[in-house]
Amino acid sequence: MAKPLLEATDLGVRYGQATALDGVGLSLGPGERVIMLGRNGAGKTTLLNVLSGIVPAARGTVTFAGEPLLGRPAHAIVRGGLAHVCEGRRVFPTMSVRDNLFSGGGWIARHRRAELHDQAMDLFPRLRERYRQAAGTLSGGERQMLLIARGLMLDPKVLLLDEASQGLAPVVVDEVLAAVERISELGVAALVVEQNTRVLGLSGRVIIMSTGRLIFSGHSGDPGILDQVRQAYLDDA
Ligand code: ATP
Repeated sequence: MAKPLLEATDLGVRYGQATALDGVGLSLGPGERVIMLGRNGAGKTTLLNVLSGIVPAARGTVTFAGEPLLGRPAHAIVRGGLAHVCEGRRVFPTMSVRDNLFSGGGWIARHRRAELHDQAMDLFPRLRERYRQAAGTLSGGERQMLLIARGLMLDPKVLLLDEASQGLAPVVVDEVLAAVERISELGVAALVVEQNTRVLGLSGRVIIMSTGRLIFSGHSGDPGILDQVRQAYLDDA
């Protein structure tokens, strides 16, 4: 089997007395999609924050493209090819869509940035229509598209996507998920964190987190997956 692009073992994080991650392991191959589900407070965001260097881990290891990742500053991790689209949909509201798109990735060669920009526009034609508009005037779905497009413009090998569908209309959720599918077809691996089981419409490995641990592993194509996921949520209640 090919070596994983991203591999985490035995990750542990505590916030004071509270354990947020407790022995979490994860691997992601090149271009692979992993869907992570779990209730509020399960530790999903903490895991993404550890991977992107925002939160330090108390224990465990992470290797990314064969190099140790823990302890590296967030800016070095993103340059190394790991882009994190955080929850909360924070855009630069007074800047145009265009300027938001170009607000990161200054280290990337000009011709490559142009290519990435064209890819992002093909993926989200709606952003082309809104190109000169202030990002603060976009709808929730359009903001999410902008943030994913901005993540892509960092030329990632891995995209971490936190709660992209939260609060969006089902038709917009489907649009965002279809874009995620096309992004992995471009060879970018994706770790997609969600609470919405609609994400099972994506093909990919499915894991469920509960109180800082992984409690389930399957594939979105497995027969009866929705029932299995529901049962895991019920057992977790
Ligand atoms: P959500 O979907 O609500 O973001 P989550 O699965 O992403 O949930 P985390 O945000 O990672 O979960 O939170 C895991 C646990 O750590 C929760 O109990 C949460 O209250 C706690 N926690 C998260 N961030 C902090 C922090 N900065 N300080 C203290 N506790 C925190």
